[in-house]
Amino acid sequence: MLNQNKITGISDPIYVTQPSLPPLEEFIPYLEKIWDKKILTNGGPFHVQLEAALCDYLGVEHISLFTNGTLALVTALQSLRITGEVITTPYSFVATAHSLLWNGIRPVFIDIDSDTFNIDPSKIEAAITPHTSAIMPVHCYGHPCDIESIQKIADNYNLKVIYDAAHAFGVQYNNESVLNHGDLSVLSFHATKIFNTFEGGAIVCPDLKTKQRIDHLKNFGIVDEVTVVAPGINGKMSEINAAFGLLQLKYVDQAISRRREIDQLYRELLKKVRGIRFLDARGQVALNFAYFPILIETEYPLSRDNLYETLRAENVFTRRYFYPLISEFPMYRSMPSANRSNLPFAFSAASRVLCLPIYPDLSDEQINQIVQIIEQPTQKHSCVVPSQKQQLFV
Ligand SMILES: *Cc1c(COP(=O)(O)O)cnc(C)c1O
Repeated sequence: MLNQNKITGISDPIYVTQPSLPPLEEFIPYLEKIWDKKILTNGGPFHVQLEAALCDYLGVEHISLFTNGTLALVTALQSLRITGEVITTPYSFVATAHSLLWNGIRPVFIDIDSDTFNIDPSKIEAAITPHTSAIMPVHCYGHPCDIESIQKIADNYNLKVIYDAAHAFGVQYNNESVLNHGDLSVLSFHATKIFNTFEGGAIVCPDLKTKQRIDHLKNFGIVDEVTVVAPGINGKMSEINAAFGLLQLKYVDQAISRRREIDQLYRELLKKVRGIRFLDARGQVALNFAYFPILIETEYPLSRDNLYETLRAENVFTRRYFYPLISEFPMYRSMPSANRSNLPFAFSAASRVLCLPIYPDLSDEQINQIVQIIEQPTQKHSCVVPSQKQQLFV
């Protein structure tokens, strides 16, 4: 039955992203070196090289590599001894708030800005209590937060700022890395991110002392053979991931420039479609085009979920980043700050957003096919309403 409805006849599924991989044969020499030296982890030569290469590429002073972004977030909070309450956004991947719970910290959700979808700084002060110790904003889709306003409030109230910068690899703000703002910035190198090491992450640190503390915390708190200074975790990146990162770094500029072309092509082709809106970054920025979010407004003939289903039936798997909001999950939804009336723009954004496929190997032809479906949607698939469970995990 679905076959009769096909608009474009896309046969191979197109997912929202596809990891970038370098030519396999280029990775073999790295493996040979690892086999030769037999150093597999614990800050081996590739780990040291990748830290230096990333500092250079990103334009930051110090970096500490991690096994994934979530452990990096958890450790970043510990390194600054954050306790009590942290003000954060509900409009993000669930790991942002989970990193707080793992430290016994209470997340306090505030609403997002209706244009940028990043936390609205004008909502921060009202959320501050005697227990507040930090702000954890997210550079959503790699669009920089209102850094100046956030820092001003943090300085006034003596709060730390830890950016979840998982989307912001390589993003520049006023000709400088966006990662140099706040007390710490945390990156993710997960397979779905623009720079991946299969799994991986990092903390960008402003000074060597902070980096050393973080390096201890990611290695059980061990300082030397006989000294353990904190109940640290095992968050170290292995040599195989670090080696892979060094190879990936050679291709990342190429990947970002193809993403920029895709972003431009989507905008060009979709600009005449009524009811489809784009998100624009504010200020002087160089973006990484990690995502291509569109907003489905009321003038569009289908609801957001109907368009999502229509695209699925045509083999195009978009994602509703970020629906449901973090604050809607069971471990958060009874918190007072999770109340719908506290988060009107976040709820509105979550109900309208759709992230379209964007990755370097996506062809112009595929982009045209995706746009064709959006231009001439049929309601035929709209009867397929996924169960709540499917909505959470697809
Ligand atoms: C991917 C992501 C994370 C988690 O990173 P992992 O490396 O998968 O642990 C955290 N926050 C945001 C906003 C992310 O997109």
